[in-house]
Amino acid sequence: MTASVRKDWDTYFMDIAFMVSTRSRCPRRHVGAVLVQGKKLLGTAYNGAPMGVPDCSEAGCMIVEELERVPQGAGAGAGAGDEAGPVKKQRCIRTIHAEQNLLLFTDRNDREGSTVYVTDQPCWTCSNMLANSGVAEIVYIRMYPKDHEKVATLMRQRGIVFRRIEGYVPPPDTEVQDGS
Ligand SMILES: [Zn+2]
Ligand SMILES: [Zn+2]
Repeated sequence: MTASVRKDWDTYFMDIAFMVSTRSRCPRRHVGAVLVQGKKLLGTAYNGAPMGVPDCSEAGCMIVEELERVPQGAGAGAGAGDEAGPVKKQRCIRTIHAEQNLLLFTDRNDREGSTVYVTDQPCWTCSNMLANSGVAEIVYIRMYPKDHEKVATLMRQRGIVFRRIEGYVPPPDTEVQDGS
């Protein structure tokens, strides 16, 4: 047995985000997000239906089908067919995204200059909101190729640090099978 190595802060807070994501009741996607100011944890959130409303485990996912264009070369491990046209994708829209819940349940003053650790690269809408939320840095793990390019551009324009932790391995049993 090797002695356990002390976790660096990135790993520490991202591990918490992954633990938080396991609270999600949407079988398709578990997303967790935490707000960190300095080295202090100021909020946690995951994707879920509004309070007091049946969630995905009770009422089923609320599925919409959309044509999605994934920019060429943006796919991480997409494999075949880089040049393929729009593909039909299903999304569950029952839940409030983790990043949006995080903004709903934290104070503007707490967010000023803070860092958000989120298990998944934020979608365009969440990114737009985060860009106006006072957050100074966004750290993520799983790629979301569809929105990557425009989100990266937005963060650059806004001066928000936007980075992925390379080589990160989530804690055991915190990931669902990819439902997409
Ligand atoms: Zn769902
Ligand atoms: Zn989102």
